[in-house]
Amino acid sequence: MHYVVLYSLCLSCTVCPAIRDSHVKESVTVLGVTIHNVTASEAIEAVDAFVSEGKPHKIIVANAAKLVKAQKDPELLDALRTSDLVTADGISIVFGARLFGVKLVERVTGSEHLLPLSCRLAAEKGYSVFLLGAGPGVADKAAAILERECPGLNVAGTHSPGYNVLRDERETECAVDAVRKASPDILFVALGTPKQEKWISRNLEKLGVPVCMGVGATLDFVAGVTRRPPAWVHDVGFAWLYRLLHEPARLWRRNLEGVVFMGLVLRERLLGRERGDRARQRASVK
Ligand code: UDP
Repeated sequence: MHYVVLYSLCLSCTVCPAIRDSHVKESVTVLGVTIHNVTASEAIEAVDAFVSEGKPHKIIVANAAKLVKAQKDPELLDALRTSDLVTADGISIVFGARLFGVKLVERVTGSEHLLPLSCRLAAEKGYSVFLLGAGPGVADKAAAILERECPGLNVAGTHSPGYNVLRDERETECAVDAVRKASPDILFVALGTPKQEKWISRNLEKLGVPVCMGVGATLDFVAGVTRRPPAWVHDVGFAWLYRLLHEPARLWRRNLEGVVFMGLVLRERLLGRERGDRARQRASVK
């Protein structure tokens, strides 16, 4: 099913002149969320600039499941819309952007680009990082591996809050305190979607960290708790399939959302953005 939708999107991108002659480097709004058209190195330059600026910033990677969830979750939609940098993580976002006439220069994912390259930047520039989230012991294990892989990297701390972190005030306070005490330059938050995006947005000012970014399952990959898709699988855009084959029970629903995403993007492309905006507004007052 996925393939049929992807194939028809590829076909429409090839034949539609408006899409074929798209502007490179232009940002694009897909399902109400602006995706920044940046390369991985530009994203890391932005991380560097945000740290130098010192004010709190948030970075989020966008994939189909996240954008579909955001259509019915006003808080998640707002978290995405107010991010300082939103990169295209999933291949579906690339096809979605194409349908709106924009050719994204590349996909910038959390696990392959943002986390490892930010750690390299941090090691070079003497910035400190903090790992928040993932299961018990995972962040510590990931920290040890990252310090080994990036000589000079300063991991200022790790903290694994419980699964109630969004609902439980005390857990949130405890996590915020741990981060504030460590006072890192870059905070990686691995709480899954939509928790990590909401948690970052709700606590951004209190945390006072120059760069907060949601990294999903990346700490699990680094720690070796979850099998990481090989780089070439990422490059060809099939990380979602690799992960689905390894964790079918947990991820099948998320991949169905990939198909829903394609349908919503096609509808918004054909019927206009105003209709999409109105639908999102209706969902937000429900
Ligand atoms: N997680 C967590 N607390 C929560 C929910 C999730 O620490 O309340 C962790 C989970 O252990 C995993 C990560 O968040 O390490 C997110 O994994 P997921 O596969 O959902 O992320 P994604 O697919 O979005 O990258």
